[in-house]
Amino acid sequence: MQNTIDQFDFRGQRVLLRVDFNVPFDKHTGLISDDSRIRRALPTIQEIASKGGRLVLISHMGRPGGKPVEELSLRRILHAVETLIGKHVAFCDDCIGEDAVRASKQLLDGEILMLENVRFHPEDEGKVKQKEGESDESYKARKAAMKEAQKSFAAQLAECGDCFVNDAFGAAHRANASTTHIASFFPEARMFGRLMNQEIAALDYVMQNPTRPLCAIMGGAKVSDKIVLISSLLERVDKIIIGGGMAYTFVKAQGGEIGNSLCEEEHLATARELLAKAKERGVELLLPIDAVNADKFADDATTRLSAIEATPEGWMGLDIGETSCARFSQAILESKTVFWNGPMGVFEMPHFAQGTFAIAKALAETTQGGAYTLVGGGDSVSALKASGLEGGVSYVSTGGGAMLEYLEGKNLPGIAAIRDEK
Ligand code: AMP
Repeated sequence: MQNTIDQFDFRGQRVLLRVDFNVPFDKHTGLISDDSRIRRALPTIQEIASKGGRLVLISHMGRPGGKPVEELSLRRILHAVETLIGKHVAFCDDCIGEDAVRASKQLLDGEILMLENVRFHPEDEGKVKQKEGESDESYKARKAAMKEAQKSFAAQLAECGDCFVNDAFGAAHRANASTTHIASFFPEARMFGRLMNQEIAALDYVMQNPTRPLCAIMGGAKVSDKIVLISSLLERVDKIIIGGGMAYTFVKAQGGEIGNSLCEEEHLATARELLAKAKERGVELLLPIDAVNADKFADDATTRLSAIEATPEGWMGLDIGETSCARFSQAILESKTVFWNGPMGVFEMPHFAQGTFAIAKALAETTQGGAYTLVGGGDSVSALKASGLEGGVSYVSTGGGAMLEYLEGKNLPGIAAIRDEK
């Protein structure tokens, strides 16, 4: 069985297409603040529609907690989806049940239906938490019951289609009914969409056969979220740049003074282990050399520069300094493949965005010079967009957690289910 939409004959078929339309909204205007996730699904939607498929779009949005929540209704994005596709999109207020099945059967070739948020049903995620005071037995029984309910929910979803296409890379790390279990109902007719294929190809390139030197840039607030990834990257990369708040745990682990900067005391030992692993494997690990310090966590804070290991008492490092920018940029420009996840500072505040923008600029420059550059993770992508350089890199991943888990070497359930791997 083939895993792509290339040769499948979609004419007259109801195509259940799992997309990731979990878009962010502007808190003040209530409008979609970034429609990239919808845009990135367009090639698959348009190709299937043009081949005569009858599209049934399914997606999650936000965290409604297993019940209908008006603000998280996919109706909210219906107009935007129709505008971007350039076609009428019918809507059904539930993703399962008679109405949904009937609406799917009313579609003609090339027509599109969107079903309501799959997470309005607890069975999509199938999460069960042990209640306070609940016996292990009762908890186990509830878990087993939910597992069955999840299968039956997936079967009901499957009634709305004749084949299944998964294009929701951003949700591929979750073993949900709509991403994973549903695939088992289409043993001969399940495929990846174009976006999913692109994501897998981009990440596989970086993981398996990159042109060297290969450089990873890691930033963001916490080391704890990224320990496994850093450790697994150390087995593959030639260089690793560590910036952002997480760098301070490494600086302190080496005896530096970090003032009030972010630090995960419980991970000082892990940081030392990662430093030792880099040395052992001959990986060049670059930490910031200098920092922009602030007297409070605010954009209007008073700022002061210092060496990274000499943060004055009472101050906190909120961005990397100019010397670090220059050193990191040089390392990026010397690399032939670069992967970036996580900002170098509190880029949401303009006074502490320069380090992150410098990295974005170096990435765009090295891409111009022929290097392959991949950026992923919500914050790095927003920073890239804010710097106006989004089009200047080779590939922007739509996956946050999914991308990190894939790079850690994990088998993502949403991918395994299409490939029939257990
Ligand atoms: P993460 O979700 O771990 O990738 O972290 C992203 C967040 O890290 C962003 O919201 C940044 O503002 C924050 N961040 C980056 N550098 C620092 C820093 N030096 N101190 C505090 N927060 C930071």
